[in-house]
Amino acid sequence: TLQARQDIITESLAQPPRNIKFPSENGRVQTVSEIFGQNVFSLKEMEKSLPKPVFKTFIRQVRGNQTLDKVTADAIAHAVKVWALERGATDFTHWFQPLNDSTAEKHDSFLTLKTNHINGFEEVTAIDTFSGSQLLQSEPDASSFPSGGMRTTFEARGYTVWDTKSPMFVQNGPHGTTILYIPSVFISYNGEAMDEKSVLLRSSEVLSKTALETLDLIEPVDEDHPRTKHVFTTLGTEQEYFLIDRGLYSLRPDLKITGRTLIGGLPPRHQQLEDHYFGKMPTRVLAATSECELELAKLGVPIKTRHNEVAPAQFEVAPIFEEAIQAVDHNLLTMDVLHRVAHRHKLKVLYHEKPFRGVNGSGKHCNWSMSTDQGDNLLDPSAAPEHNYRFLIFLVAVLKGVLDHGDLMRASIASASNDHRLGAHEAPPGIISVFLGSHLNEVLDAIEENRPVNDLAAGTQLQHIRVQGTVLDLKVATLPSIARDTTDRNRTSPFAFTGNKFEFRAVGSKQSPSFPVTVLNSAVASALQEVNAALTKQKGTKAVASDADKVIVIREFIKKTKAIRFEGDNYSDEWVTEAAKRGLPNIRKSVDAFGCILKKENADMLKRLGVFSDVELHSRFHILTEKYAKDVAIEAQTILTMVTQQILPAAYSYRRELAESAASMKSIGIEAKAELRVLNILSPIVEALQDHNDALDQLMVKLDDIVEVEKLAIACNEQVGPAMERVREQADKLERLVADKLWPLPKYNELFFNI
Ligand code: ADP
Ligand code: MG
Repeated sequence: TLQARQDIITESLAQPPRNIKFPSENGRVQTVSEIFGQNVFSLKEMEKSLPKPVFKTFIRQVRGNQTLDKVTADAIAHAVKVWALERGATDFTHWFQPLNDSTAEKHDSFLTLKTNHINGFEEVTAIDTFSGSQLLQSEPDASSFPSGGMRTTFEARGYTVWDTKSPMFVQNGPHGTTILYIPSVFISYNGEAMDEKSVLLRSSEVLSKTALETLDLIEPVDEDHPRTKHVFTTLGTEQEYFLIDRGLYSLRPDLKITGRTLIGGLPPRHQQLEDHYFGKMPTRVLAATSECELELAKLGVPIKTRHNEVAPAQFEVAPIFEEAIQAVDHNLLTMDVLHRVAHRHKLKVLYHEKPFRGVNGSGKHCNWSMSTDQGDNLLDPSAAPEHNYRFLIFLVAVLKGVLDHGDLMRASIASASNDHRLGAHEAPPGIISVFLGSHLNEVLDAIEENRPVNDLAAGTQLQHIRVQGTVLDLKVATLPSIARDTTDRNRTSPFAFTGNKFEFRAVGSKQSPSFPVTVLNSAVASALQEVNAALTKQKGTKAVASDADKVIVIREFIKKTKAIRFEGDNYSDEWVTEAAKRGLPNIRKSVDAFGCILKKENADMLKRLGVFSDVELHSRFHILTEKYAKDVAIEAQTILTMVTQQILPAAYSYRRELAESAASMKSIGIEAKAELRVLNILSPIVEALQDHNDALDQLMVKLDDIVEVEKLAIACNEQVGPAMERVREQADKLERLVADKLWPLPKYNELFFNI
């Protein structure tokens, strides 16, 4: 009731913000760069603590994708144990990413008992041990992780194996606990991936290999140009979230159980003044975010920016981009650490894509590019003018990948929660297209039409493409150059080129970035294979393709990929019509997206590249579909409970109060016109709510009979969603009508403005 809500608000207002202690050394507060990575058992740390030959063997084995030999593993285990114990660690854990968008860990202590024989007596003593085999592999009981039918409970074996490419770290838990984390992959007894990471690693490898082949075809290797040995994808995840008072949160069963409000309407002021975006962060939020960044710095997570987002109580943090596999680990760590640190500040972080109806939802923009081991961004047109063709070749490969597998990309971001955001006029719709910006677009058009590029600003024809101020000489007289207008931005596109990287914006805030990046890597690798075949054919017997060969191939792919490019307003109805004409799929709902995972074109591609096996694809499809159905069912049960136990009783109380008031007025001879009027408005709503609630209840009972997950998911989308909507409509009317003192749930205005 109002009292409960107010008590919490008063209590939280009375609390001063928690102070953050930055570590200091010799009386001086340490800078972030000094703190950075101090809890990571980095290569530098390894080099320091391992015998030289062991360290060298380790590097060789990691680079060559070999498994570690026992001697090396034992030596590393010993070194990391000493390092972790010095930092107060009591336990170690293989830390992995099961198919549920979060991370999993099972702690084992270093404790071992040893029997000593002393003069014929036996005595048990305790020691701390950690062996190479414990470091490399562990066997958590896999039966309770989603596996999509990949293994049945009686053969519940799953193994976590240290992913040697990710460094170990120690993390301080609450109240002084410290644990050594070993980033791991999670595989079944038969070697099938049961996690997000294994497939991401595979997709990165195949993209790297294919991109190297591309480079071999287009660039001579000589003294000045050493051969690129490795290409990797880079990722920077802009993470959006809401922060609300934890006490108020605790009064909302819907937030606690489902992550979003199932009932509730907008207060008079929300985001219409656009005053929150980039405004001053609330004190408590700033304190929590700073403390989170401090914790993350220790873990080597490079958070760079933080700011208010569009909706009230909505915020964003973004890191400096990193190699994608690291970046995914770090995004998951960021979500985890923010969650924990927010608690210390009596705040609750909401990662759901749409916690509140009527204001913006949250996304996780995945900024993605490819880089060589020499630090060249392959999608940077300004890197070096002599690499223009290289840039264009990789660019058209991305276009081709998205054209061929856009529906798979759509599937990679599909979930019950992201459905509330996609296509809701704030986030990209269910049509995947690519935005390039007018200048780059003009370059592609010019190449396609074999004419000079128009300087869009000056209206003249230029000989050079200038991107971000750098002249990009296309070396072919008719092919020239443009200036990138940095304001040239399209916020409505699901996949936009932003200067030197692509930004996949449709990714949900709550999900792991791993699957979307895996799909993107794979789609581009597949397209690069086609590009490579075209280049090979075109160059004939030459060692590398000539500039003319490259232009021909680039032109061919520009022509092939025209349909995927769209520069206009992705939220408009015209685009829906236009996209249909172009044959681009418009997948509005997640239930329609999941199937794209098994679609022949997509499945064949993923299997051909060795990213997924057939079993793994089916399991992925199954897990996502089942999760969708479960999520919706849980929401339905939650709203049922809330309406039955909280909303209707409040409405009945209010109705009785009004009725009693009217009756007592009447007993003294006065007609209570106002009360009667309100009663006449209230009563039909209460009746309708009771009816819709009963109907939802019956529907859920009926759904119990559906055993097939696909059918269940469809029923959830087609029937449960609308049935819940009907319940909510009446409940929201009551929220506006029923006396505030009786209302059991914190309202949006309280949730938005008490932080
Ligand atoms: P924008 O304003 O276009 O969103 P920012 O500079 O704010 O760009 O960057 C947003 C995110 O993109 C950051 O996390 C940043 O590190 C990341 N980013 C920048 N360059 C790259 C790149 N080459 N590859 C991957 N991510 C990148
Ligand atoms: Mg951005």
